[in-house]
Amino acid sequence: MTDNPDRIGRTPAMIGRLAPSPTGGLHLGHARTFLIAWLAARSQGGRIILRIEDLDASRVRAGARRTALVDLRWLGLDWDEGPDIGGPSAPYVQSERLSFYDSVLDRLKAMESIYPCTCTRADIERAASAPHPEDEGPTYPGTCSQRLAADAERLGDRPFAWRFRVPAGPIAWDDLFLGRVELDPRRAGGDFLVARHTIGPSYQLAVVADDAAMGVNQVIRGADLVPSTPRQLLLYRRLGWPEPAFGHVPMAVTPDGRRLAKRDGSLKLATLREAGVDPRVLVGSLIHSCGWSESVVPTTPREGITRFDPASLPATPWVVTREWLDSLVPAGSSGS
Ligand code: GLU
Ligand code: ZN
Repeated sequence: MTDNPDRIGRTPAMIGRLAPSPTGGLHLGHARTFLIAWLAARSQGGRIILRIEDLDASRVRAGARRTALVDLRWLGLDWDEGPDIGGPSAPYVQSERLSFYDSVLDRLKAMESIYPCTCTRADIERAASAPHPEDEGPTYPGTCSQRLAADAERLGDRPFAWRFRVPAGPIAWDDLFLGRVELDPRRAGGDFLVARHTIGPSYQLAVVADDAAMGVNQVIRGADLVPSTPRQLLLYRRLGWPEPAFGHVPMAVTPDGRRLAKRDGSLKLATLREAGVDPRVLVGSLIHSCGWSESVVPTTPREGITRFDPASLPATPWVVTREWLDSLVPAGSSGS
């Protein structure tokens, strides 16, 4: 971990972050989650870091990084450190931080916390016993867990991935929005991937390494990442890094219960911007959807800071209706 002279010996101030993946335009669900993350930090006088999470090269889209910054600035969000303005923890783009992740992997190898796994996806699926439908995939059965880190050198050309040894027992945290959450990562997924041989570090490893190195102590993100949190807590503990506070924002869904996807063009911020939507109306409508105002009051995020109240955020998914969308579009515009 890079020692950051700015942050040594000081009472840690609140540091939050916005961590978009440049895989397509941001949609309304992102807008709501990023607004909440911004308000959560700013309402405590905290700093905000913007970090681009572009490690999944197969999903990164050209131009999406620029659009994400434009979308966030259009909403009225700002940040104190980021790829466009620099800062003490630069670089702020994950694909430029690969040597740092390697150094973290080396520490995990030295502790025998990770081992090389040569299973294919098909192997894992065949060996999985009674997978739980709510898991992201079958639980890894531990086929390669008897290996040591140094065994990687004897694999020759065989492709492999690094897996973290998950200890038995549940992991719990007090979530800012969901309350006490307890999950057993050994039952939900088992030993998880931290890096792939030729592809590089996984999301789990990079996000923990970066949040720790950047001094992030408040992680606010979508509830789709709840299953990742116990794994990330295990990494913090193993690496001896202080754990941030977590808050998971319920997902945005369509009236038929589907999660908003980046392919839903009408729900994209870029589409709303082009349709002439006033970002203050959007921010006011999002704050209203959080239960923080009785009616829609057009507002900037900064004017909305005092409305932030984690206790009253609905714990159920946020349903984005056609009427709600139409209410954003100024009269006289076709809205499509
Ligand atoms: N980059 C991730 C995403 O856009 C978010 C990761 C996180 O907040 O931990 O889904
Ligand atoms: Zn294996």
